Parts: sequence; structure tokens; C-alpha cells
Amino acid sequence: MFGVDWMDAIAIGILGLLIGSFLNVVIHRVPLMMERDWLGDVLNFIKEKDYRLIDANNQPVVASEEKFNLMTPASRCPHCGHAIRWYENIPVVSYIALGGKCSGCKARISPRYPLVELVTGTFFYLCASKWGWSMTTLMWCGFSAAVIALAMIDWDTTLLPDSITLPLVWAGLIGSAMQWLPVPLFDSVAGAAAGYLSLWLVYWAFKLVTGKEGMGMVTSSSLRHLVRGSAGRRWCPSFSWLR
Ligand SMILES: [Zn+2]
Repeated sequence: MFGVDWMDAIAIGILGLLIGSFLNVVIHRVPLMMERDWLGDVLNFIKEKDYRLIDANNQPVVASEEKFNLMTPASRCPHCGHAIRWYENIPVVSYIALGGKCSGCKARISPRYPLVELVTGTFFYLCASKWGWSMTTLMWCGFSAAVIALAMIDWDTTLLPDSITLPLVWAGLIGSAMQWLPVPLFDSVAGAAAGYLSLWLVYWAFKLVTGKEGMGMVTSSSLRHLVRGSAGRRWCPSFSWLR
């Protein structure tokens, strides 16, 4: 197998399953964290202006005090609030052992969770079986994980968070400069520029032709409308107009 120790490849594949489990958290929470950030920005802006934001029931909107990030709070069943114990959180294995149901309320757990884990584990295994223990494997595993998270977040929300896309651009450029990737640095820089420019051109072409923002903004809620007006653009173009 490409002259690489298959035990190493399997070990990295298992690591991929665990990273996949973490990606499920990223996919679910990063968009919610972004919304909280936007709302926080809006509320700060409004406070400065001495305005007040009210919801549909005429109640003032206030920022949540609850801590919410990738680590806190611990994972719970969205239906019954059952705290997910460590042995219920083993990639793929727990899903099969639980029969795809919450142990508390028997609500169905989406097969998407084990699928994300399996796909991530498979990519990690394939990278390791090609490049062994190396920076090249690390780079491609990181790339796979980021693309899986981006694809799922885009699918769910049509957003591509800056917190994932921008580090990915830098990782690619640094990987080229350090020769951890086979791509020459010049090509990487040109690729980054061309990628950015093409999205920028599509964004403006669409806006000039239709008078609407087809890309980059989600306009489904008034909150996001408001955020767009006040907080500026903070996220990368996403092909929301394709669907
Ligand atoms: Zn439950």
C-alpha cells in the first residue's frame, strides 16, 4: 500500500473518526455562534445610538448571558435534554450500539452524525496511506476536515464562516511556502487571488444585473438584514443563489 505502514494509516483513520465527531459540533455550533456575535454587534450598535431592538412580541431583545462555544455547554439530546455521556459519544460505534436513538427519549439521531465521522475517518485514512506520518498528511487531513465542515455548514445555512475559510487560505499558502504541499508558492498565491477575485466578480455581476445580493448574505431574517446594515460584512461569499 504505497509503501506506507497500514497500521499508521488505520491509526490516523481512527483519529479522523474522532475529528469527525468534533466536526459535528463545529457544524452545529459555529453558525449559532456567528448569530450570537451578530446579535451582540447589533445590540452594541443600537445601544450607542440610543435605539432599542424589539422582537415580534414587542419585547426588548437582549444578548444571552449563557456561555456558548465549541466546548460549553456539554452536548445534550435536542429533544429531551439528556446529557450525552462519553460512551454514547464514541464515533460510529455509539450510533450503532444505540440503534440510532437517544438513550433517554428514544428520539431518532440523524444518520448524518456517523456519516460525517465516517467520511472524515476515510479521508484521513486515505491521506495517511498515501503520505504516511508527514506534514503533507497533516495538511491534507486539515484541508479535508475544513472542507467537510464548510460543505455541511453551507448546506445547512448557506454560510461559509470566515473563521474556517480564512485560516484555510493561510494554511495553503504556508504549506506551499514550506514545501509541505506539492504546489509551488507562486501557484498558491495566484490561486488564492484568482479564487477571491472570481467570487468577488460573480458577487458584483449578480448585484449589478439583478440589483440583489445573491451571494454572501443570507436575507431570510430581519436580524440578518439589520446586521448587514450595521455590522458590515463579516463572512465569505456563499453560493446561496444556487439553491
Ligand atoms: Zn433524548
